[in-house]
Amino acid sequence: MGQSSYCVTLIPGDGIGPEVIEATRRVLEATGVRFDWDVQHAGAAVAEREGTPLPETVLDSIRANGVALKGPVTTPIGSGFRSVNVGIRKALDLYANVRPALTLPGLPGARPNVDLIVVRENTEGLYVGIEHEVIPDVAAEATRIITRRASERVIRYAFEYARRNGRREVTAVHKANILKTTSGLFLKVAREVAAQYPEIECNEMIVDNTCMQLVMRPEQFDVIVTTNLFGDIISDLCAGLVGGLGLAPGANIGKDAAIFEAVHGTAPDIAGQGKANPCALLLGAAQMLDHLGKPDDATRLRAAVVATLEAKDSLTPDLGGSGNTMSFARAIAGRV
Ligand code: NAD
Repeated sequence: MGQSSYCVTLIPGDGIGPEVIEATRRVLEATGVRFDWDVQHAGAAVAEREGTPLPETVLDSIRANGVALKGPVTTPIGSGFRSVNVGIRKALDLYANVRPALTLPGLPGARPNVDLIVVRENTEGLYVGIEHEVIPDVAAEATRIITRRASERVIRYAFEYARRNGRREVTAVHKANILKTTSGLFLKVAREVAAQYPEIECNEMIVDNTCMQLVMRPEQFDVIVTTNLFGDIISDLCAGLVGGLGLAPGANIGKDAAIFEAVHGTAPDIAGQGKANPCALLLGAAQMLDHLGKPDDATRLRAAVVATLEAKDSLTPDLGGSGNTMSFARAIAGRV
């Protein structure tokens, strides 16, 4: 028996955010899992009203609930804040970015039989942003930080994920042949952690070969774990393999909090028109159900998305249909 209801922070966001959030709520209702939504606002409209796109109350709510479902938010240009997403990630120390890539039916250009997860280290590596000009206009330098602590927790997350979800293999992606000290430390820690999970096969692969293998034989991969920059690039490559960013979900996971969202942005060109495809956020919601310990409901939700795509029932215009966000959501909810 699970708990009777889950308190989750709900951030509608900007642009198409409120539309895909509403559609996702509708489909989640159909699973029978009960949620107490704590609706919190972040993004451009909030920035105008409150002077910051990320009020502290939003972070407090996520801290209290431990889980959030988030629509996309505009990154304000010209304000002091880099982005709401970066702000949340930093404030809550969300160290693992988890991006599934799954072949869905009926998407032109999608590769068959892809079902993999990229787990990307989210807090360090080259993205610590420590750079300077050594000689102006002549030479510049960036620092890549790899620590045992950050490597270990993200690699452990990948193995625990594999164990929880019946995955058979984790591939540690690195460049330790050239970056012997930084990638070397990541790989060393990967081997140590792997030894504690004898039932899961641990594979090691150099990042350039990984990219080629992903393009040629993506079906061979199961769980990939890697450092920040490599993970950023590989996760978008994987989204491209299954039809682009439009249907890609993502989660940011920390010790005390986890946020589930779509990878796409606020799509200002179609906002308010009922044209937004809710699938990416729905698949993010399926990740959330897995995280909450409701894997059967997550599986039913994913299966309903697949069946609705296969039936071409009420598809949104980006998928070649003449449905709208809510009719598509109702069609999916009817199959959950
Ligand atoms: P975008 O993803 O919003 O849009 C790119 C194209 O994809 C547009 O043509 C859009 O109509 C289409 N598209 C995106 N999502 C769709 C959906 N669900 N259904 C149908 N079509 C969809 O990217 P952008 O235009 O570069 O960014 C717009 C804004 O979103 C920016 O302010 C950016 O900072 C923000 N953004 C936020 C997040 C986030 O909060 N997670 C992620 C990316 C971009």
